[in-house]
Amino acid sequence: MASEFDLIQRYFTRNTPQALLGVGDDAALIKPSAGMELAISTDILVAGTHFFADTDAYKLGWKTLAVNLSDMAAMGSKPRWATLGLALPEINEEWLAKFSEGFFACAETFGVDLIGGDTTRGPLTLSVQIMGEVPAGKAIRRDNAKIGDEIWVSGELGTAALALAVLQNKIALSESEMSIYRLALEQPEPKVHLGIALRDIANSMIDISDGLLADLGHILKRSKVAAHIHLEQLPTCNYVSHHLHEKPIHKLVLAGGDDYELCFTAPKSQHAKILEISQELTLPISCIGNIIAATDGDFSSTVYNQQHQIIDIKETGFDHFA
Ligand code: ADP
Ligand code: MG
Repeated sequence: MASEFDLIQRYFTRNTPQALLGVGDDAALIKPSAGMELAISTDILVAGTHFFADTDAYKLGWKTLAVNLSDMAAMGSKPRWATLGLALPEINEEWLAKFSEGFFACAETFGVDLIGGDTTRGPLTLSVQIMGEVPAGKAIRRDNAKIGDEIWVSGELGTAALALAVLQNKIALSESEMSIYRLALEQPEPKVHLGIALRDIANSMIDISDGLLADLGHILKRSKVAAHIHLEQLPTCNYVSHHLHEKPIHKLVLAGGDDYELCFTAPKSQHAKILEISQELTLPISCIGNIIAATDGDFSSTVYNQQHQIIDIKETGFDHFA
């Protein structure tokens, strides 16, 4: 029976060129670059709440890191170091091998070193602390959206929520359609390069993990502004765009979770530059509305359809404690 130390050595110890000292001591040592601020964030994934316990371990490893990288992206920060907290109900080496392979595939793709962590027995829980760097004063925060800003989102909205609805037998799709959409749910691509490219361009930014309206809502509240959103301008996959006017489907787009796209606001003068960045990164970036002044302290979004009717949106996102 392998000891905890053997397991850490075997599955979670790799070269850490960006750290002075990585896994194996009481603490890791890192040296931030001159002129940079550290951006630090933690996300916990709990089996049964954030993922199905029988999810493919490779994809779970990828996603565990990817959702944290998405937070780095949302600050305009370059992710560099991570620690991994693991609670495991049992030692399953096959599972650990696949999980760590997926985790390191994501780490290598985005240039992150795993520098430490903790491993314990318990209900399957995956927790990452991610640390990144951003030039001093350049982080893109939630509290700086300006009246007149355009609102943009990267990629597609609602695809991961669609795939989840299919897995839950709420929507029926063919295997071949589903094979594309489930990637969005199981192996999201954090928009790290976009986040960095938007330094000096975006006034405010957030990553969309709990649904567009909920997450944009955080920008609005912190910036004390409101928003107009145009339903038909929301970027969606084929299935969703064909069914956009059915209530359950536009709810997927406006309030579905797990998109891991970036939502940001920027002055109109940056419009052409943002489209250029979209081309350079071969990543769709869509302008979906505008920041407007709030009336009577109402920092919310109003969603319009093409006929300029207001869409009634009761559920704006996923709240674990609601
Ligand atoms: P301590 O008893 O001092 O907390 P541990 O036995 O928990 O030390 O960990 C030993 C070393 O292994 C530490 O450097 C720690 O950061 C690292 N480590 C433990 N679990 C993980 C993990 N899941 N991923 C990466 N490193 C880990
Ligand atoms: Mg420990």
